[in-house]
Amino acid sequence: MEVIGASKVFVCDDAFCVLDNGAVAFEGAHICDVGDFATLQKRYGNARFHDDCVLLPALINPHTHIEFSDSCGFVFGSFGAWLSSVFTQRQKPCSKEQMESALASLRKSGVGCVGAISSQGHDLDVLACSNLRVVYFNELIGSSHEGAESAWENFLQRVQTADEYASATFHNALAAHSPYSVVPKLLTRLVCEANKRQCALSVHFLESLEERQWLCEDSGFFKDFYANFNPSNTQSFYRIESFLEHFANTKARLLFVHCTQASESELAHIARLGGSVVSCPRSNRLLGGKMLGFKKTNAILPCLIGTDSLASNNSLNLLEELRTALFCAHAPIVPLSVALVLAATNNAARALGLDCGILQNGKLADMALFHVPQIRHTHQEALTFLLHATYAQSLWVGGKELGGN
Ligand SMILES: [Zn+2]
Repeated sequence: MEVIGASKVFVCDDAFCVLDNGAVAFEGAHICDVGDFATLQKRYGNARFHDDCVLLPALINPHTHIEFSDSCGFVFGSFGAWLSSVFTQRQKPCSKEQMESALASLRKSGVGCVGAISSQGHDLDVLACSNLRVVYFNELIGSSHEGAESAWENFLQRVQTADEYASATFHNALAAHSPYSVVPKLLTRLVCEANKRQCALSVHFLESLEERQWLCEDSGFFKDFYANFNPSNTQSFYRIESFLEHFANTKARLLFVHCTQASESELAHIARLGGSVVSCPRSNRLLGGKMLGFKKTNAILPCLIGTDSLASNNSLNLLEELRTALFCAHAPIVPLSVALVLAATNNAARALGLDCGILQNGKLADMALFHVPQIRHTHQEALTFLLHATYAQSLWVGGKELGGN
């Protein structure tokens, strides 16, 4: 049994309970006790206390692409210009060192669990050896009717390879790229596969005005894009509602990523499907300019915060992403800071179907420890944490300490 204590322990339950001079006792992969440090020290011995520190569930970044860890050569300012630059960049895959450095920066910001979208499987070994908790989203992309069968075969092969890596910390999941890049026949098969597996299922959705225009009017950027790329695609595969209807009655845990162009009624439709939204504020700002209203969205359905990849962000530092969301949302700052910490812990764990994200008996011992100067003197704990935490001093995944930063 090991006991870790800190000036403030964020339990990250729905009421956002904070323990002053609190502690967590854990053995193996699981938490055994949570409470007052002095009591737990007496009860179990083997205790360490960290002054002016916050102990909380390890942060969860539910949306990134480790395969795209080369940050050079991308064009920002409009979604269309960015997407065109992605096609040029994808010709050269990033190196193992670049992917490892991306994972190191996630760990440094206190991320113990990553939702990684994998388009090609190049990131499989690096993620499996990372010691992080990984939700590995094998992504399906197939925008031509003629190429659908081979896209499906290739996809299934990647899924089967990833299945061999499944472990207590490596969880397989599925992803559809987006409504403009997956033909209906493939989407139907994918949802069926996700139902069978009852896993998480992620999709980029309404990320740009260009996408909305294509889905609503069959016109704009994607009209020209497909005229060059695949001339037989003269109109969108779906309207917005018909796309969402593909996910009706699914047992999979749905994550709709971005949704910056979604209306309130479309967000309410996702809520009825039992889904969550993942917002990536800095990526959205760089590409389309518009960021999702966190408070408004979070009132309709759980809104999580992800970094997206280095192809559309300046770093994978989740603390910076949370700070961006904190400064950009039009909402009272103190309750907003609590909602953001919960978004990156308990709510993200629920959305991904993981038994972590909260410091409670029986839950997985995924925890992060941050030095936050003067934290013991504040009663605005979540806000002080978001403003002043810089890097995780220690990080545990399944009770295993990953080494100091
Ligand atoms: Zn993405």
